This record gives sequence, C-alpha cells and structure tokens, in this order.
Amino acid sequence: MTVHNPATGEVVGTVPAQSAAEVAAAVRELRLYQPEWEAMGADGRKKWLLKLQDWLIDNTDRLADVVQSETSKPRVDALIDPSFAVDLLGYYARRAGKFLADEHPSPHSPLGRVKRLTTAYRPYPVVGIITPWNFPLAMPALDVIPALAAGAAVLLKPSEVTPLSALELARGWAEIGAPPVFAVVTGAGETGAAVVDSVDYVQFTGSTATGKRIATACAERLVPYSLELGGKDPAIVLADADIDRAAYGVAFGGLFNSGQVCISVERVYVEAPIYDEFVDKLTAHVRELRQGADGREPEHELGAMANEAQKNIVARHVQDAISKGARVLTGGKATGVGTFFEPTVLVDVDHEMTCMTEETFGPTLPVMKVADEAEAVALANDSIYGLSASVWTGDKSRGERVARQLNAGAVNINDVFANLFNFALPMGGWQQSGVGARWGGAEGLRKYCRKQAITTPILPTQQKEPFWFPYSSGKLVFALSAMRAAGARGMRRLGVFDVINTVGGKGK
Ligand code: NAD
Repeated sequence: MTVHNPATGEVVGTVPAQSAAEVAAAVRELRLYQPEWEAMGADGRKKWLLKLQDWLIDNTDRLADVVQSETSKPRVDALIDPSFAVDLLGYYARRAGKFLADEHPSPHSPLGRVKRLTTAYRPYPVVGIITPWNFPLAMPALDVIPALAAGAAVLLKPSEVTPLSALELARGWAEIGAPPVFAVVTGAGETGAAVVDSVDYVQFTGSTATGKRIATACAERLVPYSLELGGKDPAIVLADADIDRAAYGVAFGGLFNSGQVCISVERVYVEAPIYDEFVDKLTAHVRELRQGADGREPEHELGAMANEAQKNIVARHVQDAISKGARVLTGGKATGVGTFFEPTVLVDVDHEMTCMTEETFGPTLPVMKVADEAEAVALANDSIYGLSASVWTGDKSRGERVARQLNAGAVNINDVFANLFNFALPMGGWQQSGVGARWGGAEGLRKYCRKQAITTPILPTQQKEPFWFPYSSGKLVFALSAMRAAGARGMRRLGVFDVINTVGGKGK
C-alpha cells in the first residue's frame, strides 16, 4: 500500500497489507511475552514507559517530519503529536502503581468479616487498538500507552492513510530494547477486522459506521470493546460572552487540523443580541488565517485535508448548504493542487442542511442565530451524536448549568478541547459518538483489566465450615437467621420465628 503526502500527491512510503494469518501470528507472538510483562508489575513497566518517553523527546523533530510527510499538517500541529504522547506517558507511567493496586473493600455484611476481600486488576492479555488518520502518532499513543501501562500486550492497526508515524512508535519501542509486547500491523479494513477477530479487547477510534461493525464482531466473540467515534460538536455562544474570546476560540476549535478533529466545533449557535458582532469578528479572524504546506518552520495555521475523499465530503456539505439558502462569508471551496479546502464561515444555516447534522470533519463553521439559551440547548441536543460541546458565557455558573442540559460526553466552558488535555477526566462519546471512554484517571488503565475477586480466610480454618454437608434443619435455621439478621431492616432482622416457620413449613 502506498502512502501519499496529500498536499503534493508525492509517495512518501509503502507498507504491506497484512493478511489475517499474519495478524493471528502477531497475536500469538504477543501472547508469549505478555505474562512476563504483567508479572513485572507497574513499577517494572514504568522503567520502559519512561524510556519511551525519553525516546520521543529525543526524536520529536524527526517524528514531526514523518507526521507532516503523511498528513501535510502545519509544523506546530505535527509537533503536538509526539508532545501529547510524552505528557500521557508521564501521567500513566507514574500513576499506574496506584491505579492498579489491589483494593480491599469492606465486606457488605458482618458475616463477611471472616474473610479478607481483594479486588485485583489483571490485564486482558492482548489488546487490539485500531486508529484513524487525523493524528497519526498521537491517536495510537493515546491508547497504546495506557494499555501497555495496564500490563497488556498491544497490537496496533493504524489507518492505511497514515501508517508511517505508528511504525515509528513501534520502532521507538524496539530501539529502547523493551520487551516485545507491542507490535504494529498495517493494512486497511480487512486487516483491522482480523485484529478484532484475534485479540481479547478492542479499543477503536474512527467513524461511527466502522464502530458499529466492530461492536457486532466483538459481540459474536464476546470480547469487550471501547469505541471512540464521530461527533457533531456544538458551540453555544450566549449573549453575556466575551465576544472576542468566543470568536477566537470557536475559530480554533473548528479549524485546528483543518477541522479534522473528532471534538472539532462543527456547528455554532449564537444568541440573537450578539449574533452580528460575533459573526463579523469570527469572519474577520478566519479571513486572516494562512493556509498552505509548511516545511520545518511554522508559516500556516491550516494545512491540507488528509485525503481526496475527506475534501469531497466537505465540498458536498458546503454545496448542500448553499443550495438550501446558506451564505458563504469566507472560504467555501477547494483550492490549488492537493487536498486544500479553504477555511469557511457559513450563515443562514438550519438543521435541514447536512453541514448542521452530519459530521463534516473539515474546516467549516456554520453559524446559526438563536432566540435564547433554551433554543440553543434544544438545537445542540438535536443530534445523533454526543461527543463534546462548548459554552461561551460571562457567567461560569450559567455555563455549568447549560453544560448539564447538554447530551455530550464533555463540555468545555469558555474553551475548546480542554477536556482532551486532562487525563484525569474521561474522554468518551454519548449516543452514536461512542461506547466507554479513554482515560479518566484510574479507569483509563482499569478498562484494560479484568477484575478478579479473591477471598482469603482471616481466622484459622477448621476441617469443615458449619454449612458444608451434611445438611440439617438446625443448620438451615442458623443460616437463614444469620443472613436475615445481616440484611433485613428493623424488627425483621430478628425474625427467628419466621425462619422456624419457614423451615417447619418446608418440612411438612
Ligand atoms: P474509519 O472508521 O474509516 O477507519 C478507522 C480505522 O478502522 C482505520 O484504521 C481502518 O482501516 C479501520 N477499519 C475500517 N474498517 C474496519 C473493519 N471492518 N474492522 C476493523 N477495522 C476497520 O475512520 P477514519 O476515516 O480513519 O477516521 C475519521 C473518523 O474517526 C471520524 O468519524 C472521526 O470523528 C473519528 N475520530 C474519533 C475520535 C474520538 O476520539 N472519538 C478521534 C479521532 C477520530
């Protein structure tokens, strides 16, 4: 399979399309080394994760080159990929010991006090991770790191559009001399499907359509999964907002990485009193943005779209809006060679247009005037998706109140993407935007683990427990009385006579 630079069309690499048999062989190999990786414990694994962190820091510049070669992102955006991974490695390497430590819950009843109770977190042996093309190094790293930190072995299948950066991550793992518990297979959907057919847990990031296919395949095998899918994130700009900040923030949220971010601002609702001023400021700012193919120096805010198909989706949404009465205030068309699409502001839009209902995943900002907060919330919730949202207001408690009315897995107040940079929070979509979540403090590691319950006697054990065979009425009275005393309410706890009647009744 050939990999292209989307700005120039130049071939920048080739990778094999790996078969189901090759995938199965890779999984078998990972299974051999995983028990040792688990047995090493969080402290042992920390050493390797921090070595990988050093490697990423030492190779940041070269990694950004690889990211740029297969995406044609601006230099600044390309540098974010390795830096994001460095931050996440630090978080999970240092905290894994605490997050995965055994727990010893109190027994639910006094009868349980004779045992020491333990919940142990034991990793799924092999986790399969399937990723999209929008952040070719960061997307894999975001899930590979916590799965490895949890003690699982990991098989990664990156997007066929951008596999080169993911292969660099595997190269880094090998170069630091880490145990062979992380491997990459390349190929398109069939290779991904083979991963789903062979692993013990699937972490998928990509489109909702593919996510549904993966959920079906996992259900057939009874294999657990977590899905991070598409979105149509709304921004709500209330009349009391700082209009300049809202305009700059919405522009960044909608146009960063040419809008190819799952949590991009995809639609904007603005309260009527500030609508004109907001639209003027947003449009003026977007007109100033520079678009082009960066070299190693930052010159542009926007690069190319990832591929021709993605550019065509954006063009289709813009054309559909125009044909139904929308106006383009700036941008609106593909430009030059390569897959560039101009940063675009659309107004006079409504929910009859695909640009307000389907995921665009491009540099478009459709803006709609609303009468009030209630209308903004109703329109924001009028979506099959529920990934994230932003609320712009001068009153933070109002922002939080609006947040709690939105059907979205995350809401940022007076900001965009902030939840993504806080690993202590869960990042997960509601409705058609996903199942489960990545990160969320300890949960980000525990999701890759099976919980194991262990009971250990506290007191010296006898030859037999009182309730073991042979049975008798006396034993039955004792057992029922004890369990009722522990679990029932008020005088019903003392229902010894009820118990005797029950036992007597049974006897008759
Ligand atoms: P996609 O669904 O087409 O492909 C994603 C990955 O799945 C690729 O690696 C692909 O080869 C693989 N794949 C395809 N068919 C498969 C199958 N049947 N079984 C297993 N694997 C299969 O998505 P894309 O176009 O690469 O990425 C864009 C989408 O990703 C957008 O919808 C975007 O919203 C979403 N996304 C979501 C998040 C999130 O965190 N929620 C983050 C980034 C991107």
